[in-house]
Amino acid sequence: MPRILTTLACALTSVTAALITGFYAPAVSAQTSVLNIYSARHYPTDEALYSDFTKATGIQINRVDSDDAGIVARLKAEGSASPADIILLVDASRLWRGEVDGLFLPIQSKVLEAAVPAELRAKPADNGATAWFGLSTRARVVVYDKLKVKREDVDTYEELADTKNKGKLCIRSGSHPYNLSLFGAMTEHLGPAATEIWLKGMVDNMARAPKGGDTDQIKAVASGECGIAVTNTYYLARLMRSTNPADKAVAERVGVVFPNQQSWGTHVNVAGGAVARYAKNPTNAVKFLEYLVSPAAQNHFANGNNEWPVVKGLKLDNPALQAMTGGSFKSELVPISAVGMNQIKVQQMLDRVGFK
Ligand code: FE
Repeated sequence: MPRILTTLACALTSVTAALITGFYAPAVSAQTSVLNIYSARHYPTDEALYSDFTKATGIQINRVDSDDAGIVARLKAEGSASPADIILLVDASRLWRGEVDGLFLPIQSKVLEAAVPAELRAKPADNGATAWFGLSTRARVVVYDKLKVKREDVDTYEELADTKNKGKLCIRSGSHPYNLSLFGAMTEHLGPAATEIWLKGMVDNMARAPKGGDTDQIKAVASGECGIAVTNTYYLARLMRSTNPADKAVAERVGVVFPNQQSWGTHVNVAGGAVARYAKNPTNAVKFLEYLVSPAAQNHFANGNNEWPVVKGLKLDNPALQAMTGGSFKSELVPISAVGMNQIKVQQMLDRVGFK
C-alpha cells in the first residue's frame, strides 16, 4: 500500500511538472504498471499490438473504444479527472482538432522524432515538444467499375468532378474526417476557390446522396449502382484478403487507381497517437508510443490492418497492398497538420455547395 502511494505521488509530481512547463519530457520517473488508452482504431486485428506490449513490458492496458468524436467528447467532459493516458485517433483533422483543443500533452522523444517523418506529426512547439505523432498511413484512392468506367477517366482527383463522370460518383459524407482531410489537402494544392468549384462538380456527378462508409461505396460499385467511388486503401485490402467469396467477388469486380501519380501524388492520411493532457501514467504512455514505432508494431499496422508504416525502410509483407500498388506509389507531400487546419474552411465550402 505505501508503495502504491509513493508511485502515485511520483506520477502526480511528474504530471504537475508537465503542466507547469507545458510539456512532458520522458525521464526517470514513476513506473506504474497500468496504461489507459482511449482508442478510435476500430480494427480487431489491433488486439495483438496491445497484448505484445503487455508481454514485453508487464504494463496492463485498459482500453476504451469509441469513434473519434466520442473520444473527444469524453475527454472534454472528464477534464482533469480523465484517466486517459493515451489517445489514438484515425485521422489528421481529428488529431489537429485535439491539439487545438488542448487535449494532448506535448512530449519530447528522440525515438519518435527519429522514427516519424516531420510531415506526419504535429508541428513542434517553440520548446521542441510535439503534440501528436502519425503512426500509420492510409491512402485515399478511387475504385471504379472495370466494366463501365475507363481507368484513364478517373486517375486524378480533379476528374471526379468532370462532367464526363456525371451520375457515377459514390462517396461517404463530405463531413466525414477522411473526406475533410482529402478536401483539406486539395485546398492546399488548388487553392480554396478552385477547390470549391471541384466540390460542386462532385455533387453534380453523384450517383446517389452520400451514405454509408467506405466499404459500402466499394460494394455499390461492384453491384453496378455506382461507377466510381472513393475509399481508404485498407477497406479495399480487407475485401481482397477476405476468405468470404462474396467479398472476394466485390474486390475482383472493381479496379483501383492511386490518383495524381503524374502530378502531386495520392492523398495520404494518418492514424496517430498522443499522450493525454491529464495522463496519470505519462511515462508508460511515452513508452507505448515509442513501442508503436518499433519494427514489430509497424509491421503489425501493415499486415494486420493493411496500413503503411510511417517508419521508412521497412519491408512491406502484405499481398493486397503489393497487388494494389505494384510495390510503391507517389504520395503527396503537404504537411498533414496543414490539412487538418483546413477543415473548418472545407466544412463551410461543403455547406455552400450542398455536399451532405
Ligand atoms: Fe476507418
